[in-house]
Amino acid sequence: MKVTRRDLLVWSAGAAAGMLVTPVPWKLLDDVSIWSQNWPWIPQPARVPVEVKQSSCTLCPNGCGLRVRMAAGWPVGVAGVTMNPITRGALCPLAFGAHQLNWHSRRMRGVRHRGGISSWPEAHAALTKASEEGRTVVIDGYPGRAASSVLEQFALKRGGSYQVVLGSETRGLRPYENWTGVPATSLGYDLENAKTVVSFGAPLLDGWGVPGRFTRLWAERAADADDPQFRLIQIESSLSRTAARAWKWISIVEGSESTLAAGLARVLIEQKLVPARGPIPAVTVSDAAKRSGLTADQIQELARTIAAKRPALAISSDENPSIAALNVVLGSVGKKGGIVGRSRRDPARVTADKSISGARAVVVDASVPWDFVPETDAEVFRFAAWDGGSSKADWLLPAPGFLEDLTDVPSPPSAAGESYAVAPALTKATADVRSAAQLLVSIDSSLTSIDNIIHGRCAEIFRQRAGTLYGREIMPVAQIASADKLEEQLHNGAVWIGEPARAASFRCELKQWPSLAAAAEDPDWAEHWPVPMLPPLASKLYSESSLREAPARRNS
Ligand code: SF4
Repeated sequence: MKVTRRDLLVWSAGAAAGMLVTPVPWKLLDDVSIWSQNWPWIPQPARVPVEVKQSSCTLCPNGCGLRVRMAAGWPVGVAGVTMNPITRGALCPLAFGAHQLNWHSRRMRGVRHRGGISSWPEAHAALTKASEEGRTVVIDGYPGRAASSVLEQFALKRGGSYQVVLGSETRGLRPYENWTGVPATSLGYDLENAKTVVSFGAPLLDGWGVPGRFTRLWAERAADADDPQFRLIQIESSLSRTAARAWKWISIVEGSESTLAAGLARVLIEQKLVPARGPIPAVTVSDAAKRSGLTADQIQELARTIAAKRPALAISSDENPSIAALNVVLGSVGKKGGIVGRSRRDPARVTADKSISGARAVVVDASVPWDFVPETDAEVFRFAAWDGGSSKADWLLPAPGFLEDLTDVPSPPSAAGESYAVAPALTKATADVRSAAQLLVSIDSSLTSIDNIIHGRCAEIFRQRAGTLYGREIMPVAQIASADKLEEQLHNGAVWIGEPARAASFRCELKQWPSLAAAAEDPDWAEHWPVPMLPPLASKLYSESSLREAPARRNS
């Protein structure tokens, strides 16, 4: 069963609504309980008092707040944390069954070398040898963690390269890197202060970014209002759920997003609907009309509507310089309600290309999606907690699963503000596992360990005395007695929220309208995160519930 991020998120939205009005999900849950009791590979939880721990989900970079029910040291249930100021109790469906993942039949349990059984000492020796013999490329799918810092140290100490695979939300921010000098991973969307959001196919109400962020904003400020103070204009070729629920849906020809963005910018500048900013695109309104399937009048009317309620923010479903340039014309870059910079600036990162030449070894962290398969002559060491399908890796290395290792949780991609949390190892590993960072530290003991990096980051937050800690109670960092106390609270599930993003903290210079040919038109955002496996609970509910969207409608 092929399941994509879109399937999961759409299903999540349907499930939430359906749960309220139909007994079917409850019947399914009952079936699942009976069915799952018969799985031979899942241990029965001991009849002991259940303990509740608070942490963060690390299955993807959104880092949602988790309440984990533990029985005899094993997780037996997961729920959201309403006190978490970022997710406020929301989770995606993957997390609700995540406690089952460590027992999944596709769990990676042993080291494999070119299809055969191998061992950790052999993998250790092979990576040590390869990294001494030539250049090592290390690829990370979740930059900004303490583990990322270990991966980067290892690559750079060996004259190699540390590269990242970014999600579509962060890729949408990449064009601003060249115009502002601020790395995409340090930029975010200030949705909370925007008045008009123009989405070019971004699935804002299907599930985008941190679960619940946009949906809640929309429900609180705009849903059901004829003339809401917060407007969502969805520009998309098909009637997606986001399009159906938006304030306005503008149906355009698929793949014409860049041209339409350029046409809108031209109208905004020529009709002086915004203070003149940025270069005039070469595209004329009639070019944009021809390409998008709208009329010139409709494009002019749309431009006036966008300019009427500002701050207005354009969001693309992936990297698209023309849509980013529309934000420059709207004056929304580096401004409240637009594209803002977080207070802590990450260094700019090299984006990983699948084609890797001149390397002796390629290390792929478990955070890198399975569909990223390096094309290289180098020896590939691929870490993964679950087997996501065929891989050309020479080495397949079992990584820690859900809640099995200590990690930290930096700000989610595209968030406007700074945050930090720690997800400790709450449970023992169900297999002999190591993360990429752990293996690299065992090869080079001069690398700073994950524990020490987290310790240093907590000390730094304490030293700055800024922001607030959201734990069992809400407390400004300035009132916390020591760095150790702050670290202890973070290990117990508290989340640190920094000061609000500095809106006017950078300049944006766009000298020339970006080439439309360079835009990555990628309307099928659903394929970007094929889920390698589903927890049995989610899988059965997903397969059998009528809440799953029919393929015909999806493609309509
Ligand atoms: S969105 Fe990501 S972090 Fe949040 S619950 Fe789902 S898998 Fe976990």
